[in-house]
Amino acid sequence: MKNSRHDAPGTRHLLKIGLMGGTFDPIHYGHLVTAEQAYHTFGLDSVIFMPAGTPALKHHPEILPREQRFIMTVIATSNSNHFEVSRLEIDRPGPTYTVDTLMELKDIYKDQAEFYFITGADAILDILAWRDAKKVIMNANIIAATRPGYDLVHFEQVEKKLNIKPKVHFLEVSALAISSTDIRRRVKQKKPIRYLLPDGVYRYIMKKGFYV
Ligand code: ATP
Ligand code: MG
Repeated sequence: MKNSRHDAPGTRHLLKIGLMGGTFDPIHYGHLVTAEQAYHTFGLDSVIFMPAGTPALKHHPEILPREQRFIMTVIATSNSNHFEVSRLEIDRPGPTYTVDTLMELKDIYKDQAEFYFITGADAILDILAWRDAKKVIMNANIIAATRPGYDLVHFEQVEKKLNIKPKVHFLEVSALAISSTDIRRRVKQKKPIRYLLPDGVYRYIMKKGFYV
């Protein structure tokens, strides 16, 4: 338990756990850089990558099976001591709702942890469409990763619509114009994808013939 040796005797260190959710079809350096910078900036104890089972919100039609997205996430995070991968969402049948995940995590960790949802600027407004968005926001912190110069006006829309003040922490991550959509498209067009994602994931995609 990180930091615990610095705590005064008798005090209990509240774990700070980052949650990086996504489809990860495939996982790439945009996800990993954001998680790493959030870990460092907010003094998190760990970041749990949470591949979605069946994303509740509309996604691209040919999404890879959950088990393959899970394997790629494990490969991508394998050489970090503070990155974990959870099966919580891929093992849950039916559409994936963040609120179910958060309630399960609260049950597992009881009152020993606080949670920080790490989300990219493009996904911030999606929060409004989440089931029980208010409940999620009231029970967790949000780390909104923005590119330098990103307009924060978007988040005020969330505050207005939900009529609550979310615990949002803004994080400027190094700009990385990488997306899974672009990687899938590049494979189809026989363009290189190497160095956009960890080499192990690259080789797994080639070995399995994904996205061709
Ligand atoms: P797709 O193109 O299929 O939508 P994606 O690259 O956006 O995929 P997701 O799995 O949808 O990846 O994203 C998971 C989370 O990672 C979201 O919160 C998203 O905002 C964030 N994210 C994705 N790409 C980046 C990036 N390049 N920099 C920072 N955050 C990112
Ligand atoms: Mg996306």
